[in-house]
Parts: sequence; C-alpha cells; structure tokens
Amino acid sequence: MTPAAPGGIAAQPGPAAPPLLAVRGLSQRYRLPRQHLLQRSPVVQALDGVSFTLEAGRSLGVVGESGSGKSTLARLVMALEAPSTGQVLFEGRDLHALPPRSLRAARAGFQMVFQDPYGSLDPRRTVLQTVAEPLALLQGRQPMADADQRRQAAAEALEAVGLRAADLDKVPHQFSGGQRQRIAIARALITRPRLIVADEPVSALDVSVQAQVLNLLQQLQHTHGLSYLFISHDLAVVDHLCDEVLVLQRGRVVEQGPPQTLFTTPQHPYTQQLLQAAAGAAPQSAAPA
Ligand code: ADP
Ligand code: MG
Repeated sequence: MTPAAPGGIAAQPGPAAPPLLAVRGLSQRYRLPRQHLLQRSPVVQALDGVSFTLEAGRSLGVVGESGSGKSTLARLVMALEAPSTGQVLFEGRDLHALPPRSLRAARAGFQMVFQDPYGSLDPRRTVLQTVAEPLALLQGRQPMADADQRRQAAAEALEAVGLRAADLDKVPHQFSGGQRQRIAIARALITRPRLIVADEPVSALDVSVQAQVLNLLQQLQHTHGLSYLFISHDLAVVDHLCDEVLVLQRGRVVEQGPPQTLFTTPQHPYTQQLLQAAAGAAPQSAAPA
C-alpha cells in the first residue's frame, strides 16, 4: 500500500520547468534571385544568431528599424518557416524538429496577431469562420467538430476582446480597423494559447485607437496569463508594455534589457540612434497613460 502524502508538506521540487520560449542561435538566410546570368545569387542574412528566453506571463519587446529582421524572427518563432540554423524551444520542445502532427497540435499554445487587420482577415468569411478557424486547423487534439461548441467558443473569444456574440455573423467590412484587430486577437485567443506573437499589432491603426487595443492586450495578458513577443518600431509602446526589450540591428541582438534601463541609459550606439530618431519623430506615441 502506498502511504498517503502527509498534508502540509511541500512536494519535492522536480526538475525545473523549461521556460515558455527559448530561442537558441536562430539564423535565417534568404537567397535572392540572380540579377545577372553570370552573377551568383545574393544572400540576405535576415537573422543572425539570435538567442533569448521568455518566461510565462512576461512580455518581451523586439525593436529595430525596418529590415532588421523582426518579422523574420516572428515567422520562425511561429514555425511558419524553417530557420537556416538554430532552435525555437516552446515549453521545452524544439518546434522545428517536431513531426508535422505534433507541430500542428503544439500550435494551440502559440498564436500570432499580424500588423494589418485589413489584409489578415478574409473579407468573404464571417467573423465566426475567421475566429473559429484555428480550431479547425488543430488536429491531433480533441477536434471541436460540434458547430454549437465552435460558435460558443468563438462568442467567448469575441466577448473577451470587447465585441459581442451578435457580431459572429457579420463580415469584416462591417467593422472599423480597431474592431478588426480585436477580431484578429479573438482568433488568436480561441485555442487558449500561452504565447502570442504580435508583429506591429497597432501600427496600422489610428493613433486614437492604438491605445485602446494596447490596453486590451495588456488586460488580456493578466486575465489569460499570456506571454507576448511584441514586435514594434514604436519604442514608447514597447516601453509601456514590455518587461524586457531586445534591440535588433541587421539580424543581430545588439542590446537587451528592461525598458527602464535600456531606454534611459542605452549602451549601444544603435539603441541611442533609435531613441534619438523616436524623440525627433514625436509626437506619434500612443502608449496608454
Ligand atoms: P523587419 O520586420 O524588421 O522590417 P524583416 O524580417 O521583414 O525585417 O526583413 C529582414 C531582412 O530580410 C530584410 O532585408 C528583408 O528584405 C529580408 N527578407 C525578409 N523576408 C524575405 C524573404 N522571404 N525573401 C528574401 N528576403 C527576405
Ligand atoms: Mg516587419
């Protein structure tokens, strides 16, 4: 007979849980089409040996000017394409080494919100079809075949982002940009992810709407225990939302730290330059007060 565990005594600490997300030496090279018959095709090093970890419930900002590799990083973390080298460990599992079935099932844990709420929503699909779509793509998990269940899950996701169940049968053009981005966020939430990768999620929105969507993301982080990999060229937004910031220049991490120190005492000339450019471009920040 196994003796019952004595009450009040803490369990033996097991092996430390892996971080939610660990990126190890991630690089991506793209080969461009040849410009000339005699030329070798040029190669772009879009990402170059990027490593970081992101713990559950935290948010990591990624900043860098256009072309620095931010979206490439997002696609690799989301396993939308394979890296040239390196690993993406989600909850300890190397996504790029998983067999397709396991990867499909693992996708429930991480979802993405894209920049453009116009381009990322299919204009012919209803909100219900759009929001419930990730459920259909998940195989290997309990398939949610029941239409009522799907509708119920989609309604809950919509309500979590401040929309109504009555919106389920509408189509995207009936919504404003901010509302469309809320629909995109609802679609990301429906699989109950632990990680959301947001690539410039408010950059396409009016400044007045940006703060509302950022507030929503922040509120969802608390209520759903989410972690964010939050990509933005707007330093003020990252300053407000993120616990840690990573500065990318030409595919490399040149500086990393909490925004309070990174944005007040930047060490790397490139970070200093980004800050100066941001100060010069003000006012364009929409960080909620
Ligand atoms: P960011 O999101 O920071 O603007 P990207 O990750 O989009 O940067 O791009 C990084 C670099 O990689 C750029 O030089 C870009 O032109 C190049 N790049 C990105 N995706 C591709 C691709 N699919 N094929 C070729 N080059 C690409
Ligand atoms: Mg980009």
